[in-house]
Amino acid sequence: MARKPKEILRPRADIAALRAYDPEHHRVRVNLSANENPYDLPAELKAAILQVEQVPFNRYPDPGALELRRAIGSNYGLGIDGIAVGNGGDELILALLLAYGGAGRTVVSFEPTFVMYRILSTVTGTACVAIERGPDFGLPGGAADSVKAAAGDIVFICSPNNPTGNTVSNEALVAMLTDFSGLVVVDEAYQEFAGESAVSLLNDFPNLAVLRTFSKAFSLAGLRVGYLLADPEIIANILKAKLPYNVNALSQAAAAALMRRAGALGGVIEEIRGERDRVFEAIDKMPGLTAYPSEANFIFVRVAGDGPALWRDLLSEGILVRNLGQTEGLENCLRVTVGRPDENDVLIETLEKRGRGGDDQNR
Ligand code: PMP
Repeated sequence: MARKPKEILRPRADIAALRAYDPEHHRVRVNLSANENPYDLPAELKAAILQVEQVPFNRYPDPGALELRRAIGSNYGLGIDGIAVGNGGDELILALLLAYGGAGRTVVSFEPTFVMYRILSTVTGTACVAIERGPDFGLPGGAADSVKAAAGDIVFICSPNNPTGNTVSNEALVAMLTDFSGLVVVDEAYQEFAGESAVSLLNDFPNLAVLRTFSKAFSLAGLRVGYLLADPEIIANILKAKLPYNVNALSQAAAAALMRRAGALGGVIEEIRGERDRVFEAIDKMPGLTAYPSEANFIFVRVAGDGPALWRDLLSEGILVRNLGQTEGLENCLRVTVGRPDENDVLIETLEKRGRGGDDQNR
């Protein structure tokens, strides 16, 4: 009879110490927690891009994802050798760290920011230096010098920044990129809701990589497609590190077809931007809550008082927002995704009711 071993191999100490990414999935009536687009694609558009009969299921997907990369390339005026696609942007962050990070290399990030930079740095054995952002969450003064002082090899700049919603100007990015031999990765997962883009700097800086995703403005979070735009040299090395069939055939075909119809998404993006401004103003007026201006599809909110308690109250009303309470310095902060107008109304009404002492009965 087989005997169980007394002890089995432990993970590396840095993995054992890591806190797993927890997206806090709950089934709720109003989900404003994951910065998704609140609108699924219209049925006709879905049918047009998801041509199940034409995608062979018995064959592996195109390992070069050529059709998808061509569609992305024609949107940006770039050749396919300047584009890598991944199973979500997350996978491209991992592939980039596998190719350029690892032992002896250092990542620099400006905190608070997207937690996957730190998690995937640890997973790939890359040292990670966190530089604190300024009071309104902009990059601190002398950020480029701090990166050099930290001997950073790879800098992640999230713009608009998750979770704070503010952007970094191209002028500041140029200061970071100039005379820097490391890589600067500008994560533009939410760029479609903002203005300026670092894509226009790609021609001038071979050390720049711009990360984009179909998960947010493009409403394809469930299909998992992200892409990275960079100098062909960087792309060639990332392609060596990623898994061969990383994006499945249905997702490749659908994302390519959607990219060719990108214009169809403009109306929804405009509505979300308008709702963002409405939710911002409503929350910012509420006593005890400070909303931070955002160029993304979410709003960072500081609670004067017990933030996690407010999060629990909202959850008990069927509204899920992101509780940032586990992040040092953000103990009483929440991140609220901009939803559909009716969902935003529920959020605003619930917050107002709570601000009035929690009940409407004596009015
Ligand atoms: N970057 C940022 C800043 C994000 O917020 C996210 C999604 N949470 C991603 C990248 C990755 O998105 P995806 O893997 O869905 O493309």
